[in-house]
Amino acid sequence: MTRDIVDDDLNATDGKVLLRELHLLLTYRCTMECEHCFVWGSPQQSGVMTLDQMRRIFDQGEDLGSVESICFEGGEPFLYYGLLLEGVRQAQARGWKTSIVSNAYWATSPDDARLWLQPLAEAGLNDLLVSEDDHHGRSEDPHAASAAAAAGHLGIDTSAIAIRDAASSVDAPSPVKGEVIKGGTVRFRGRASIRLTPGLRKRPSGELVTCPHEELANPVRVHIDPLGYVHLCQGLAIGNLFQTPLREMLSSYVPERHPICGPLISGGPAALASAHTVPHADAYVDECHMCYEMRNRLLTRFPEYLTPAQMYGVARQDGS
Ligand code: SF4
Repeated sequence: MTRDIVDDDLNATDGKVLLRELHLLLTYRCTMECEHCFVWGSPQQSGVMTLDQMRRIFDQGEDLGSVESICFEGGEPFLYYGLLLEGVRQAQARGWKTSIVSNAYWATSPDDARLWLQPLAEAGLNDLLVSEDDHHGRSEDPHAASAAAAAGHLGIDTSAIAIRDAASSVDAPSPVKGEVIKGGTVRFRGRASIRLTPGLRKRPSGELVTCPHEELANPVRVHIDPLGYVHLCQGLAIGNLFQTPLREMLSSYVPERHPICGPLISGGPAALASAHTVPHADAYVDECHMCYEMRNRLLTRFPEYLTPAQMYGVARQDGS
């Protein structure tokens, strides 16, 4: 009996990754340009998902049979409100839980916030995560409180995303791997790796031998961007689902053979540098700092895995 169940489970997933969460980056564009942002969100960024693309992603997610929830992120997803609302409707109709991560720029008062949230509540939105920390200039700002008040009134669960300052993030304990970031430490990747690391205490590069935050070997969630890239960590892709269906991509993903994930799994950023003979400094703030710097140096060698340019600080202004 037990043997049958195990075999069935393996067959159901081709013996591969069992994804539970899809995190959709609806856009790279944002109203803000925070120093700790690891997707380089900015008013100057481009890359916006279309309704047709979102449907195709949902169809591929449904085909997996294991997806339980959709999280809408960005950039700032409320910038494309119509798409966001339709996304919540369609995800709920497919039986998935839904959540949104936002900086709440739209919550100019509790009454105004209600105007934005009421249709989302009627569509079934389960959870709203609002940035509320000094990185977003939010310690004195009423937007997050207005959003939380309106959400509470409408029966939407809310959580505050409060990230520590950079100095107190160094050496702080890591949260559980692969979980949605609701607080805690700065992740020193993306813009944070450039803007927030100067002056911080560093550790010898030879000690950075793990990936502390993402489940690269057996991920239960992925981020999918408007270009179709499927990310295990921001800017670290396993493929593009507009070219290769998600089921096929996951089925053929062999972590040890992935040129970036393989070394990271076996020995962290130190092994990544060693595997590809990447010149590196003696010390970095933490694993993500070194990993992001090494990945930056490997961009031209592994363009299909270290992509898109937006994740490496190239602001695109093509109007999309
Ligand atoms: S070590 Fe690299 S892959 Fe792991 S969480 Fe940090 S940046 Fe991402």
